Amino acid sequence: MKAAPFEYFVADSIDEVTTGLADSGEEATIIAGGQTLVPLMAMRLARPALLIDVNGIGDLQGIDLLAGGVRIKACTRQSDALKSTIIGERLPLLAKALPYVGHAQTRNRGTVGGSIALGDPAAEIPLVATALDARITLVKKGNSRELSIHGFYQGPMMTSREPDECITEILFPQWQGEGRRGTGFQEVSLRHGDFAIVAAAAQISVGEDGVCARASVALGGVSGTPFRISAAEDALRGTMIDDPALRAVANAVDQAVDPQSDLHASASYRRRVAKVLVERVIREAAREAANHAAGDAP
Ligand SMILES: Cc1cc2nc3c(=O)[nH]c(=O)nc-3n(C[C@H](O)[C@H](O)[C@H](O)COP(=O)(O)OP(=O)(O)OC[C@H]3O[C@@H](n4cnc5c(N)ncnc54)[C@H](O)[C@@H]3O)c2cc1C
Repeated sequence: MKAAPFEYFVADSIDEVTTGLADSGEEATIIAGGQTLVPLMAMRLARPALLIDVNGIGDLQGIDLLAGGVRIKACTRQSDALKSTIIGERLPLLAKALPYVGHAQTRNRGTVGGSIALGDPAAEIPLVATALDARITLVKKGNSRELSIHGFYQGPMMTSREPDECITEILFPQWQGEGRRGTGFQEVSLRHGDFAIVAAAAQISVGEDGVCARASVALGGVSGTPFRISAAEDALRGTMIDDPALRAVANAVDQAVDPQSDLHASASYRRRVAKVLVERVIREAAREAANHAAGDAP
């Protein structure tokens, strides 16, 4: 099937994007890598009257290390993020998740900001952003605001972005302080490169004594949005991440998830896999933290 007719505008600057969005209201849609939007248009599930192409805007591309964390500009290709040494060194959790995002061909076009904007509950980048308390900058004509990822996702593919707003950058804060850090990322999907049926992400920091000082545990694919399991994080803090702690984590996951059945998997399967993957990513992170020197990133 072909896309419904649309006008096409190649923007040279963020101002041109926000002016186009402001002037055209809900008729206009941003196109970045097109890896999700073009298939949606071809199936006529999306029918924008005007496409505003942001691929040529230099101000929307790039990765840099700021005092507040790692900044990834919205139109940065997923493949460039995967190759980035800053991300490899400073955001190992994201570096672990990126190879699961689609395929090399889709990552060569797909953008980090496009995945954040779409808000698929099974997508890896929104999940990692949720685990790392990312902050999103949104710009509209005459105004800009920074939002926490927490609360940005309102439901499957639903966000608090207003139709006339463009996402310009995502900031991934860095954990400060001396602890030994470790990360874990795992997912189950029908084939590699498919959206996850269930995905789990964890980042921890332990003291010299091996006691967990900080933990972030998040799940994707088991709810309408990626989400943190604060009860699991509470169950880890102050422990040696031993079996009793992991049993408490499994209980917390059981309480927190309310998965749905769909074509790909049943709710009970998702619930079981969620518990298994959360335990695996925590063990992975704990192993890494044990091997890391104090203060090493992430
Ligand atoms: C075969 C295949 C497999 C895939 N597998 C996975 C997978 O396993 N995991 C995964 O996470 N994704 C997967 N994807 C999707 C892929 O990652 C897309 O790249 C991503 O979902 C959207 O990014 P994009 O840059 O292509 O955005 P587009 O398709 O251009 O846009 C997507 C949406 O975001 C909006 N948007 C884009 N950029 C901005 C911006 N800067 N500000 C505001 N709104 C914006 C658009 O208006 C549109 O509504 C797959 C895609 C394909 C084709």
